[in-house]
Amino acid sequence: MRKIQMVDLQSQYYKIKSEVDNAILNVVDSAAFINGPEVKSFQNELENYQGVNHVIPCANGTDALQIALMALDLKEGDEVITADFTFAATVEVIHLLKLKAVLVDVDYDTFTIDTEKLKAAITEKTKAIIPVHLFGQCANMEEILKIAKTHNLYVVEDNAQAIGADFTFSDGTSKKSGSMGIIGTTSFFPSKNLGCYGDGGAIFTNDDELAHKIRGIVNHGMYERYYHDEVGVNSRLDSIQATVLRKKLPLLDSYNDARRKAADFYDEAFANHPQILTPKRAANSTHVFHQYTLRILNGKRNELRDFLAEKEIPAMIYYPVALRKQKAYYQESNDADFANTDKLLNEVISLPMHTELDDEQLKCITDSVLEFMNR
Ligand SMILES: *Cc1c(COP(=O)(O)O)cnc(C)c1O
Repeated sequence: MRKIQMVDLQSQYYKIKSEVDNAILNVVDSAAFINGPEVKSFQNELENYQGVNHVIPCANGTDALQIALMALDLKEGDEVITADFTFAATVEVIHLLKLKAVLVDVDYDTFTIDTEKLKAAITEKTKAIIPVHLFGQCANMEEILKIAKTHNLYVVEDNAQAIGADFTFSDGTSKKSGSMGIIGTTSFFPSKNLGCYGDGGAIFTNDDELAHKIRGIVNHGMYERYYHDEVGVNSRLDSIQATVLRKKLPLLDSYNDARRKAADFYDEAFANHPQILTPKRAANSTHVFHQYTLRILNGKRNELRDFLAEKEIPAMIYYPVALRKQKAYYQESNDADFANTDKLLNEVISLPMHTELDDEQLKCITDSVLEFMNR
């Protein structure tokens, strides 16, 4: 059996090695390392895939979030609501811009922001909501967009973990994750569903004016060369990353299918086990399984992780600490309002999930989990 890895980027690379190698060498040969034609082509291809008017590539997913908030002209102290259970980047950028992060609980089954608690957290100072499409499926965007409309709030989707997922509204229309809010952001970190070979990110919007503004912000606030109209940043996707992404974008749907197939295998193996809850698939979103995350109900989640480690099966705890309890982002709170997050911190374990898992590996993983849970 091949060694089981949390993410197997090498096997994925070998399948497209000659194509990707050639593409990279062509960029090197052209010496168009920054803002070259590959970046422009990738931008157009991703606009098509996402069904959005504008994609602005940038240096990473954290920058994408920061730049999105910069573009919305929020003022110091304005409140931005996001989930307590997510990767820290989402809340980090809120703090960096001296906005006030308001963290709320997530739904126990979908791991995405609890829309009732979101409503309750809205104040006069609330200006924006950042739903995070955690682990590969969309937050309840229909409800979130409705709430945002009622309260006149911006919605910025953190789509770093769910690129390729589709959300279906009750009128039957379907949209790509990241294309529903005023702005959407994503990350091309190597282990993400669409990963490059270094850092990368992108910003999505349908709004022409915002797109123009964002193109300036990513480029030192310049709209005309050497005229700086606002304080911007330097955040670019380089041409080598763009050319890798151009080779991988056409494969994204098949990559997501491979992840779903692995998830099906896991689901079946753990179905009906009284102490294991498999990830619930939301009714209105497809799932692209950035992570496959179980909830372990017997209180022995850490022991399970150690047991798997002894068998050389990696597993991760995403995430072990609530953001509101982190030193950097501490938020006074009533723990009763965060019952789901606090339960999940102690129950979740993410199993190996990537495009290259074979049945032998999957069987080894599920057998080992069940061996521990049934002993
Ligand atoms: C990965 C990730 C980011 C940040 O992306 P980087 O490219 O690593 O900066 C932001 N939000 C979420 C939810 C992520 O998973």
